[in-house]
Amino acid sequence: MSEPALCPTNPAELQEAVRTTPKLLPRGGGTKTALSSPREGRTVLDMTGLRGVKEYDPAEYVLVALAGTPLAEVEALLARHGQYLPFDPPFAPQGATLGGTVAAGLSGPMRQRYGGVRDFILGVQFVDGEGNLVRGGGKVVKNAAGFDLPKLMVGSLGRLGVLVELAFKVFPFPRATATLKVSLGRLEEALEAMYKLAASPLEFYALDLEPPATLTLRIGGLPEALPARLERLRAFLGHPPGTHLLEGEEERGYWRSVGRLEWGHGYLVKVPIQPGKIAGLERELPAGMRRYIGTGNLLYLHWPDPIEDLDGLLKRQGLRGLVLRGEAKPTLKSPLIGVDWEQAFARRVTAALDPHHRFS
Ligand SMILES: Cc1cc2nc3c(=O)[nH]c(=O)nc-3n(C[C@H](O)[C@H](O)[C@H](O)COP(=O)(O)OP(=O)(O)OC[C@H]3O[C@@H](n4cnc5c(N)ncnc54)[C@H](O)[C@@H]3O)c2cc1C
Repeated sequence: MSEPALCPTNPAELQEAVRTTPKLLPRGGGTKTALSSPREGRTVLDMTGLRGVKEYDPAEYVLVALAGTPLAEVEALLARHGQYLPFDPPFAPQGATLGGTVAAGLSGPMRQRYGGVRDFILGVQFVDGEGNLVRGGGKVVKNAAGFDLPKLMVGSLGRLGVLVELAFKVFPFPRATATLKVSLGRLEEALEAMYKLAASPLEFYALDLEPPATLTLRIGGLPEALPARLERLRAFLGHPPGTHLLEGEEERGYWRSVGRLEWGHGYLVKVPIQPGKIAGLERELPAGMRRYIGTGNLLYLHWPDPIEDLDGLLKRQGLRGLVLRGEAKPTLKSPLIGVDWEQAFARRVTAALDPHHRFS
């Protein structure tokens, strides 16, 4: 079924589209199909016409770009200056945009080192539900003025407004990286090792758990220091036999493929979790593709079965999930599944920014 789409190419056109269209769904690269497929009566706002980097001074470590700019374009520009987006957003190779990443609140494994998308967003410009162009935050790291609109837009799923422009802090990429994949015998052993590593002074760019019992540890820094650091890491872990070192292009290719999160037909769901809940969840989940990132604080899960089954499972576990990819089913009222947290504050913010319910 083809859907109507509006394709603004500047903020004024976007404002006009918002003012004149009763129900809208912004779409960036369309890489998170469960979030960007409109329900009946909604008009798609294709944001890819509002693209381009507006300001970037590598010496200032700040980048300002339009929301429809592809992540891949931003990453290539930053890489030319040895810099990167430290929250490590997924789906860059498939065409994800900056705006879609912020609206979905997505970070990747390398958020382990410095933090997630919330920690790097400095400023936003967006169009609210009445067609006003609103600005929040700025381009400086120290910014105490007013309500923290930039952080509010992280994970807002397009319900508070349409992102137009974003300012980010960026960081230097480590000069060299290496990855250890450590296969331990059982989940309990892997969790124990993960807790110990998290409490140690060792620094990781990624600390992931791939069930049933593989830890993936990425370190980075000066090339000459890496061999000794890897040795310290192996010693800390007690030289486990199932250890595999990834370096060079093989290592970079491995992380690129992790960032694609392409695990086959079915649903892809993001589940914020606490490490202490992993063992209980793993007892209920069938074998399959999934990855706990950020020391077990976030799960990306592939689910090939009916999504209602996962909804029930997450509810039993006291967890909430955001369906990112997969068929948008009419039975699913929202991409948010699992426990339905009371969102009184979010409802009040939505009422203030989108009084005509154009985005919800
Ligand atoms: C070391 C560590 C690493 C972590 N790594 C990650 C990570 O890589 N990625 C990650 O996402 N989390 C990570 N977390 C968890 C993170 O701190 C949050 O708990 C988690 O991101 C919350 O996820 P959320 O965006 O779904 O939740 P919230 O932002 O609390 O939102 C809950 C849901 O409501 C929606 N929502 C939010 N605001 C609004 C609004 N105003 N109106 C309507 N709906 C709204 C969101 O889309 C979301 O689906 C990590 C935590 C730690 C301690």
